[in-house]
Amino acid sequence: MSKPFDVGLERLTGRAPDPEMVLGVTVGQRGTFFLETFGCQMNDHDSEKVAGLLHARGYQQVDTPEAASLILYNTCSIREKAAQKVFSRLGEYREKQGEGKVIGVLGCVAQQEGEDIFKRAPWVSLVCGSASYSKLPGMLAQLEAGNQRVTGLDTDTDETFETEVTRRDNPWRAYLTIIEGCDKACTYCVVPFTRGPERSRASDAILREVRQLAELGYSEVQLLGQTVNSYADPTARRMRFSELLLAVAEVRGIRRVRFTTSHPSDFTPDIVKAIEGEPKICDHVHLPVQSGSTRVLRAMQRTYSREEYLEKIALMRGANKPIGITTDIIVGFPGETESEFEETLSLLEEVRYDSMFSFKYSPRPNTPSLSMSDSVSEEEKSRRLAVLQDKQREIQAAKNARLVGEQFEVLVSGKSRRENQWSGYTTSHRMINFASQERELLGTYVQVRVTGAGPNSLAGEHAV
Ligand code: SAM
Ligand code: SF4
Repeated sequence: MSKPFDVGLERLTGRAPDPEMVLGVTVGQRGTFFLETFGCQMNDHDSEKVAGLLHARGYQQVDTPEAASLILYNTCSIREKAAQKVFSRLGEYREKQGEGKVIGVLGCVAQQEGEDIFKRAPWVSLVCGSASYSKLPGMLAQLEAGNQRVTGLDTDTDETFETEVTRRDNPWRAYLTIIEGCDKACTYCVVPFTRGPERSRASDAILREVRQLAELGYSEVQLLGQTVNSYADPTARRMRFSELLLAVAEVRGIRRVRFTTSHPSDFTPDIVKAIEGEPKICDHVHLPVQSGSTRVLRAMQRTYSREEYLEKIALMRGANKPIGITTDIIVGFPGETESEFEETLSLLEEVRYDSMFSFKYSPRPNTPSLSMSDSVSEEEKSRRLAVLQDKQREIQAAKNARLVGEQFEVLVSGKSRRENQWSGYTTSHRMINFASQERELLGTYVQVRVTGAGPNSLAGEHAV
C-alpha cells in the first residue's frame, strides 16, 4: 500500500527546506504520483527510494490513484498469486489511461514479464525492473517528451541502487540495502532472475548513509539484502558482515541495528559473537529453513542439510543471551512426501521458532523446479500449510505465555485509536501492545512489563 506517512523533505534530505523548490524543480510542478507496493521489505524500501527520486524531480505523492497523474505499482512475483494480484490491480486502472494518466509497473513482475506487459496491459506506459531504478528520471523525461512506452530491464548493472534522496516511510526506523540481487539459485525462486546477481554496496558508503540517518534522528536501522549476511565489501577494507554490524552500531545516535534476511550457509559464529557483545545489535535472526527434510533441501538447492541448519541454531542457543529466531517454510515442494513434511513439523518442535512465514509451493517461470512435476495437490498443500500453522501457533502461544511478568525495552512505533494504548517492538522483534498514561511516546524507547500474551503479540503496561 502507499504509505500515508509524510515525514517532510527536510527529514529526507537533511537540508533546510525551500518550500517551493526541490533540486531546482518546484514541488508538484511535474504532477502527482501514487505508488502502491506489493511484497517484501526490499520492495518497501525500493519504493521509498523511487518516491524520493520522484519527489526530487518535482512530483508530489498522493494517497489515491484518482488524485495522481502517474500511477506506479511496485510489484512482487515471488508466488503466482502475488503476480496475479498485480495484473488484476492493473485491470482496475485500465480506463485511467484514457483520463491522461500514466501507468507504470516496477519491480519483479516488470523484470519477469518485460515488454510482454505492454501486450497484456496495453494501457501501461512504463516497465522498469529494480536494477534500473536509477534510470527512472531519464525514463520519465522520455515520457514527458511524448514517448508512449519506455522500459528499463537491465539486471547486469554493477551499480547498486543509491539515490540522493530516499523518502522513508517510518520516521524512526530506516531500511538500508547493503546487498542487491542473489547468487544462491534456490530451484523454486525467481529472485535471481528478477533482481539479478549479487552486488554488495561499499562499506564506506553504507556507513556514511547511517551517519546521515542518525543525524536526521533515525535511531534504528535495518540492513537489507536477500542474503544480507553474504555481504562482501567491495572496498579495500574488505569488512566482514559482522564487522559492518559493529561499525553501524558504533555510529552515534543509533540505538538498534537489525538485519534481514540471513542465509543459513553464510551464517557464521562471528555474527552471533557480534550480537552477544554489542547490545545495539538486535537479538533477532530471521533464518529461513524452507524444509526440515535434507532430501527436499537438496532438491531446493538450499546448500545445507537439516543437521547443518540445526548447528546454526545451536550457535544461537548457546549465546550468552536469548536470541529470537524466525523462519520461512515452503510446504508441498515437488515430490515432498508425507514423511518429509513430518520432518518439517519435527524441526518446528526442535527449534521452537518465535515466528514463521509459511507458503504453499508455487511454480514460477524460469525456475529449475518448474520442470519437476508439481506433484502435491493444491488441497494437500493447503492441508499441510494448515497443520504447520496450527503447530506454530501452539508453539508461539506457549513461548509468549512464559514472557508474562518480564520487562522489555520497546521502540514505540504505533498509537492506537483507543486512548492510552501504544505499540512497538522489542529488540527480539516481538510486537507488544501496551497501556501508558504518557501523552506522547512515538519514536521513544520505553520499558514495558508484559501482562498478557497471545500467539502473535504481547500485551503490557508502561513500567516507570
Ligand atoms: N532470500 C530469502 C531467503 O533465502 O530466505 C527470502 C526470499 S523470498 C522474498 C521470501 C520467501 O518466499 C522465501 O524464503 C520462501 O520461503 C518463499 N518463496 C520463494 N519462492 C517461492 C515459491 N516459488 N513458492 C512458495 N514460496 C516461495
Ligand atoms: Fe531466492 Fe534462495 Fe536467493 Fe533467497 S537465497 S532470494 S530463496 S534464490
